[in-house]
Amino acid sequence: MRLVLLGPPGAGKGTQAARLVAKYGIPQLSTGDMLRAAVAAGTPLGAQAKEIMNRGELVPDRLVIDLIDLRICAQECASGFILDGFPRTVAQARALDVLLADKHMNLDAVIELLVDEDALLARVENRNRVTLKAGGVVRADDNPESLKIRLEAYRAQTAPVSAYYAERGALKQADGMAPIDEVSASIDGAIGVRV
Ligand code: AMP
Repeated sequence: MRLVLLGPPGAGKGTQAARLVAKYGIPQLSTGDMLRAAVAAGTPLGAQAKEIMNRGELVPDRLVIDLIDLRICAQECASGFILDGFPRTVAQARALDVLLADKHMNLDAVIELLVDEDALLARVENRNRVTLKAGGVVRADDNPESLKIRLEAYRAQTAPVSAYYAERGALKQADGMAPIDEVSASIDGAIGVRV
């Protein structure tokens, strides 16, 4: 099963992706996680991405397209994958279509989590509290200034991705404001699984 999860920061993509991983045994491919790992490892890619990410802007399309290209044909993705945080621009969505066509693959569903923007800051603050309580480190871009820019990037560059898939009849939407179990149930419904 090959899925794309769309939604703004704090929409619950990570939470739902983790549940899908457990349920279907397919990996979550988060370009944000891959980039953070590159930053932590101090690779040239990480050095290129670090400041852009901290500001809350999007890194150049080519960087993330190459990351995804490498991963989707790896053995771990033989049964499918969940794309979380990619594609984030229409150019990335087009590039993904080309990558998949080259590999004779297609997407089973693109699911957008719809959320009330006013709730997003509170959700991210809550995520930070939980992380700190667990002794973790809060993301450098989870502060109000970067979050504002991330939301602007979402509106300007990622919202058109939903329209791109809607035009192709591939977009399913789920109410991301509902309790976590209900969101999971709507996703199951969207991908045609009866639970
Ligand atoms: P995320 O963990 O998905 O919230 O991503 C964190 C940051 O990584 C974003 O604010 C961007 O700077 C960068 N990033 C992650 N995925 C992408 C993508 N598909 N395109 C461009 N930048 C990305």
